[in-house]
Amino acid sequence: MKSGSGSTESTAIIVSRDPTGNTERRQFEDALLDALRQGAVRTVVVPHVYALRPGDAVLDRLADLAAAPSRWIVAAWLYPRATRWVLGNLGLATVEAIEAVDCREFDFPEACAERLLASAGASGTTASPGEVEEIAVATSPRWYPVLDYERCVDCRQCLDFCLFGVYALADDGRVRAVQPDNCKPGCPACARVCPAEAIMFPEYAGSTAIAGGPPDEAPATGALPTPECLAGDAGDELDALMDALDELDEA
Ligand code: SF4
Ligand code: SF4
Repeated sequence: MKSGSGSTESTAIIVSRDPTGNTERRQFEDALLDALRQGAVRTVVVPHVYALRPGDAVLDRLADLAAAPSRWIVAAWLYPRATRWVLGNLGLATVEAIEAVDCREFDFPEACAERLLASAGASGTTASPGEVEEIAVATSPRWYPVLDYERCVDCRQCLDFCLFGVYALADDGRVRAVQPDNCKPGCPACARVCPAEAIMFPEYAGSTAIAGGPPDEAPATGALPTPECLAGDAGDELDALMDALDELDEA
């Protein structure tokens, strides 16, 4: 594989595809990649990072990239904090080595490419075009909590709160989402329980903060939404959980 030169030798740009099939976003990505080909930084295109699963071939490729002294500049259709911790939670790279940009912030793909190349320390007009490698694997939608370990204070409230075995303590004593796919689609409940705002659901539309973005302009008050993880047939346990959430809202 062709690598970059000089200061960009150990830097890769990762472009995370939009998962929705949106035509405008696809056109944005295509134009972005055209612009990035003019740079001297290797670019790897991957499926939507939040949809990746342990065992996906794309993770092996990304792990190879991370094995070398490497810095990643990642463009995704997510808030940057969410993107960094999605990759961090997958164990692919340390979040310190990842800079992320949100494609939604840019009106034009060329501006996004300029930003990515600048972060990578490369000019957009080099005589040695960068290589663009696409790793296309089929993915399906996922819904699971992403933990920000820079914020987590190890209180274990999420562990106690979740009834579905999503969380467990790891050997290092920290809470991990060990069975992320047990999480109930659409449920962001434990993100509201976390006292440190350390739990993100990157695709949650009801709160920018829970999605990993800026604080909500108007924090929710009064009745809680009815998260899907509280519906179903878990009976008394779920009633108790709902009571706990009500108390939280009233606090
Ligand atoms: S509730 Fe939040 S701060 Fe507490 S252990 Fe879970 S993620 Fe960390
Ligand atoms: S959102 Fe609900 S199901 Fe998912 S981890 Fe949190 S409490 Fe468990």
